[in-house]
Amino acid sequence: MANKIRGRGVIAGVALGRIRLAGQNIDGYLAKYQPEAVEVEVEKASDALIAVAEAMRERIVRLQEQKMMAQAAIIEAQRLMVQDPMMAENIAGKVAEIGNAPEGVMEAAESQARVFEDMQDDYFSARATDLRDVGKRIAKYILGVKEPEIGSGKVILCGQEVEPSVIAEIPTEKIAGVLLGSGSTTCHAVIIAKARAIPTIAGLGDKIDGIRNGDYVIMDGGRGDILVRPSQQEIDDYLARMRRQVELASRYQALRELPAKTKDGHRVNIMANIGTHMDVDTAIKTYGAEGVGLFRSEFLFMGHKDIPDEEEQFRAYRGAVEKCQGRPCIIRTMDIGGDKPLPYLHVPPENNPFLGWRAVRISLQRRDIFMPQLKAILRAGLYGDVSIMVPMIINVEELQQVRDMVEEAKVELAHEGQAYYDTVPIGVMVETPAAAIMSPILAKYADFFSIGTNDLIQYTLAVDRTNATISSLYDPFHPAVLRLVKNTIQSARDNDIWVGMCGEMASDPYAAILLVAMGIDEVSMSAPWIPRVKEMIRSVTLHDAKDALARVMKMEDGHVIRKYLRKRFPGNNL
Ligand code: PEP
Ligand code: MG
Repeated sequence: MANKIRGRGVIAGVALGRIRLAGQNIDGYLAKYQPEAVEVEVEKASDALIAVAEAMRERIVRLQEQKMMAQAAIIEAQRLMVQDPMMAENIAGKVAEIGNAPEGVMEAAESQARVFEDMQDDYFSARATDLRDVGKRIAKYILGVKEPEIGSGKVILCGQEVEPSVIAEIPTEKIAGVLLGSGSTTCHAVIIAKARAIPTIAGLGDKIDGIRNGDYVIMDGGRGDILVRPSQQEIDDYLARMRRQVELASRYQALRELPAKTKDGHRVNIMANIGTHMDVDTAIKTYGAEGVGLFRSEFLFMGHKDIPDEEEQFRAYRGAVEKCQGRPCIIRTMDIGGDKPLPYLHVPPENNPFLGWRAVRISLQRRDIFMPQLKAILRAGLYGDVSIMVPMIINVEELQQVRDMVEEAKVELAHEGQAYYDTVPIGVMVETPAAAIMSPILAKYADFFSIGTNDLIQYTLAVDRTNATISSLYDPFHPAVLRLVKNTIQSARDNDIWVGMCGEMASDPYAAILLVAMGIDEVSMSAPWIPRVKEMIRSVTLHDAKDALARVMKMEDGHVIRKYLRKRFPGNNL
């Protein structure tokens, strides 16, 4: 019998493969390294920076050619770190101080990483991992250490943290799965795995120490179960499940061109959430997205040392809009703050960042940031079906202020002789209980609603969305959440405006049944989730969905609701 361990299933799918421990130890190489004269060591470090940046550039081009845009963006962010003059200066200083190129590089990267880590925030921890990764890469170049070859079989990458460059370097077809000791689901390894749909389990902590390099492992990324050194019977069971998984994938492929329409002909739009314009093609061509329901524009701001200017933003928005080829593209204005801080904004420390200076609150006070963004979106409006969506609205006044600023942006563009689209719709992201409760009023001022349940749930239930300890309380099916969602949809219907959902709840097929019954127009989600939701919508009638909704709205508990829906709508093998 195999040794069984359990972590947190992050990306669904079963996989079988040999363990490849990530985070290659280079201590032995460092110990054997013979430094030369200090000037030679400094020069070696500086040459290594150039060579590694060039290797990364080539890697980025290859990834882009293979349409692996998320990985390309991550390696690009690392390349910017390698080319950062401050990084070069720190490295040169450290190497000159200790007279050893690889150790100097590692120490310089480590001290910069610690600064990020001390901020005690998921986003910055991910940057700290990147910095260490970059440092190690440069040191390996100097030491002449090569990544070990992967043999003919598939590997399951395993480590406390898997370095982004390691996972991005290995072709998708060679990675069966990822096992992580760390609990972060926003780290770059997870983002890459998600974009490639690689089964992933996180939060294994010390349990990872029981897994050795070369161990045979079966993992279930949905349940979080891992079998280390399985028996033949366990392998046979696994192979049977794999066959079912392959069948499911081909079923999903067949759904790509089909509409999200119930059996009795009620249709909703199904769109994708994206972080960069480079995600659009995969969303449409691979998963059948009918447009972009949420373009998280803040990623443009986060990959930078300073506020991206209007031109740069315009190019990114236009890129996404053009790739949508006439399909809708909803651009959310910058949603910085909360779990997405921005160092160059110098936000003073806050006790409750999620309740603090974030999103539209920053935009309305920082004209220097908001105006270029609005102007860039209005200009991109000439290239397709663009909408502006405003995050974290809590009252009518904020929306009106945004509208006023949009008008001012138009005046500025006209003075500058810049062409723009005059009637870009302006919608409210309903992600605070205030907005949901006030939706009958807000609907009179907004051109559309999109319900952001990721935040709406955390604010409604007072459950921090990033706190793993209380994650079982974070429940989209909690009756309070369902009531707010239903009210919001009803307000939109009453006022003849369009309403969608762009929070993760939309990617739950059972939630989708309820949303369709409530009268939602659109659901938007991470692209790989589209086929599952589409399949569920196509398997029910509107009549059935409405009947289920009526019953669910009388229930008192989220668990009971989920159980009821699973029982009533089986057969999807989800
Ligand atoms: C949301 O809050 O539901 C949402 C989609 O936005 P984000 O996850 O970026 O806060
Ligand atoms: Mg949000």
